[in-house]
Amino acid sequence: MKLSLVVPCYNEQDNVELFYEECVKAFDSKPFEYEFVFVNDGSRDHTLDRLKKLYNEKTDSNITVVSLSRNFGKESAIYAGLKNAEGDYISLIDADMQQRPEVVLEMLEILKNEPEYDCVAAYQGKRKESSVMTGFKSGFYKLINKLSEVELHADASDFRTFTRSVADAILEMGEYHRFSKGIFSWVGFNTKYIPYEVQQRNAGETKWSFTKLVKYALGGISAFSTRPLSFATYVGAFATIVSLIYLIVVIIQRIFFNHAFSGYATIVVLILLFGGLQLFCIGIIGSYLAKTYIQSKNRPIYIAKEILKRDK
Ligand code: UDP
Ligand code: MG
Repeated sequence: MKLSLVVPCYNEQDNVELFYEECVKAFDSKPFEYEFVFVNDGSRDHTLDRLKKLYNEKTDSNITVVSLSRNFGKESAIYAGLKNAEGDYISLIDADMQQRPEVVLEMLEILKNEPEYDCVAAYQGKRKESSVMTGFKSGFYKLINKLSEVELHADASDFRTFTRSVADAILEMGEYHRFSKGIFSWVGFNTKYIPYEVQQRNAGETKWSFTKLVKYALGGISAFSTRPLSFATYVGAFATIVSLIYLIVVIIQRIFFNHAFSGYATIVVLILLFGGLQLFCIGIIGSYLAKTYIQSKNRPIYIAKEILKRDK
């Protein structure tokens, strides 16, 4: 049995060596083979040098380094890692030590002892973030679960271990705008969720800002649901019905009661309201169109500049 650790790294110069050491500590005494697939996602610091150093010095270990030609984002880095992973089981794990390698052992145990599961995903038992953030996140998951055909576990992270068949299924998903949580859910298979404790980041800082998270969340919704596109239809239908009723009222009042209508303010408000709604809907359509446009170019999900790998 062989385990592949797929590790996306973006500006993790002070973490990769420690990560390697901790993994060796956790796995070396275990009765299975394992390999590291580090993906340098266009880091601007010395991450690549450190990875090359590991590759050159730790010749006993099975290390692959895939270096992307620029920063493609974690989702693409994961894809690049999966493409180069050869294990029977694959783990996605961050380089910053927030996720402990010991948990991977726990996941492997489950996959071995409970063959009905193809994937084990870790979720944060206790969230270490502000309550506002937790509120936003849980709101997002409620929304996406309502709107889309996929079912997402609210707290599940990308920290997962799964079988080769799951990895192959994910590699089949060639979409350019990748939203892993949705992809994992879409491919199906049986997933077991286990709680884990998120550790403090060892060095460096998180790449997520609030605006990035919001963009990511909206991208996730449009990647797995087309329901927002129907929004215009519902609003339009509602407005048409209301205006038809109002038209009848106006005609009756004019003919039978000779009522003269005025209402400059009403007209201005209505024009602004519907102008706004129309632009909003065009915006939604535009965002789907943009994705379709980019996807139609069929660009690769990542470009590897360099791959270090030893022939076995
Ligand atoms: N990462 C990456 N490319 C990016 C951003 C992040 O490969 O563009 C990697 C990063 O190096 C880390 C993992 O993805 O190993 C998770 O990133 P981070 O720790 O910033 O996210 P958080 O743990 O705060 O959710
Ligand atoms: Mg992290």
